[in-house]
Formats: sequence, structure tokens, C-alpha cells
Amino acid sequence: MPDTRTLRERYDDVKARVARAAEKSGRRASDIMLVAVTKYASIEDIRELVSLGHVDLGENRVQQMVQRAAIIDEFNARRADRGGTATPVRWHMIGSLQRNKVKQAIQVARLIHSVDSLRLAEELQEHAEAAATGPGGDKFGPLDVLVEVNVAGEASKHGVAPAAARHLVDMIDTMVALRPRGLMCMAPNTGSIDDARRVFTRCKELFDEIRALGVGGERFDILSMGMSGDYEVAIECGSNLVRVGSAIFGESKDAAEDPNDAPGEDSGG
Ligand SMILES: *Cc1c(COP(=O)(O)O)cnc(C)c1O
Repeated sequence: MPDTRTLRERYDDVKARVARAAEKSGRRASDIMLVAVTKYASIEDIRELVSLGHVDLGENRVQQMVQRAAIIDEFNARRADRGGTATPVRWHMIGSLQRNKVKQAIQVARLIHSVDSLRLAEELQEHAEAAATGPGGDKFGPLDVLVEVNVAGEASKHGVAPAAARHLVDMIDTMVALRPRGLMCMAPNTGSIDDARRVFTRCKELFDEIRALGVGGERFDILSMGMSGDYEVAIECGSNLVRVGSAIFGESKDAAEDPNDAPGEDSGG
């Protein structure tokens, strides 16, 4: 059955479900950050969501994030000119990040969810430090990053092995321009909610272990897990940041074409 609901109805439904799942696990809706993933959304739909007051947006390709950030900034500037209130949006880089795109990515992204190697962390550190010490660098604080963990050990997935996560967090914590904020993971592609629950539970344990050791410092407090098909389960398992695309924006006409797999601009490097 085609989904005939409006964007607003879908958005309200997701927010209500997030709130219910949070309550089920003894937390409040405000404890969970909802990142609206815009990779398949039209600019019109993104503008509408921003008009509804939504702040956190996620993209998995650097080029698209940079272009859309400029368009949304301009949209917000026009709204402010007309006397409206326009909270600046926060962009999240959720897709795998090529090292040759780091410099561009950090100009826009407030949180990088996908740090999966020491080399990538070092590249981020180098460019974040240069940005912070260059012109206009005073408004450039430490860059918040998450370590992506490949919990289920799937060959098709990015992310470090669970046993390597703590060490990478520890290394990032020594980098002055970076701040390790937590972990990110994805459920396996099996479509099974039990498999998803197992992976989320394991990732929460890992997150708690690292926190208990104090490895990532005081601000190590973000656990990014859960997408359209599994965000309620993820929240019940302890997630405090969910990345939701199609449940908000609807199924894309070209959803079969996953930009993660496209041999596009982000390949190479
Ligand atoms: C596309 C994507 C999402 C959102 O997927 P939906 O199933 O549309 O909610 C979340 N996280 C990552 C890393 C993605 O690439």
C-alpha cells in the first residue's frame, strides 16, 4: 500500500515513536537525537522539514552535504530576513568518508559518524587543526567524531572490529583537534529484528565498557544506532541518536540505487 501521508505526518509519527521507545527504556524523548537522513530527499522536502523546526540533518556523501548545506543556509537567511526564527541546521556526515574529502567535510559537518581507521582520524586531526588555526579558526572548536564499529563483522560493512574500537577511541582522544564523542553502528542487512537487537546490544556493551574505562573522556556520550527499519529497537537497546531517512521522507523512487554503492564522486582516495 503506497504511503500517502504528508511529510509532516510522517515526521510527527517518527517523533512520537522515538518518544514512546525512549519512555519504554526509562528515558525522555529529549534524550534521543533524531537525525533526518536527507540522502534521498528533495531540496523542497528538506526545506519543509527545516521549516518545521528540525535541526539535525544527515548525508552520506560529502559533495551533496556541502551543496545542500549552502542551499539550506541561504533558505534560513531568507527566513530570518523576513523576521522568522531560523535555527542553523547541524549536518552529520554518516557515510564512509574518503580521506581526500576530509577537508571539505569538516567545513560543514558538526559530527562525523564514520571514523573507521587511524589514518582517517589522523587526516581529520590534521585538517581540523589547520582549520582551527587558520583564518576564522576561532569559531572552529574541536571536531566531534564517532568511531564506527562493524559489530557483526560483515565484509560489506565499514567500521573497526569491536576489539579495536577502544584503542581507536584512545588514539583519537590524544588528538588535540578531535573529540571522540561515541560509537556508531549499523544492523546487519539480514532484515531480522533479532539480528539487529543482538548487534545493538553488543554495541551498547562496548560503549559502556569504553565509558567505564574513561577512555574517551567526559564527553564520550553518543551512541548512534538505528535507521528507519529498526530505530525503536535501537533506542530500547540504548541508542541516543537515530539516523532516519525513508520513514520521514518516504520511500524514494530510486531507493534501489544506494549512494553508498554508487561508483560516484567519493570513490578513490
Ligand atoms: C541511508 C542511511 C541511513 C538512513 O536509512 P533509512 O533506512 O532510509 O532510514 C542511516 N544511516 C546511514 C549510515 C545511511 O547510509
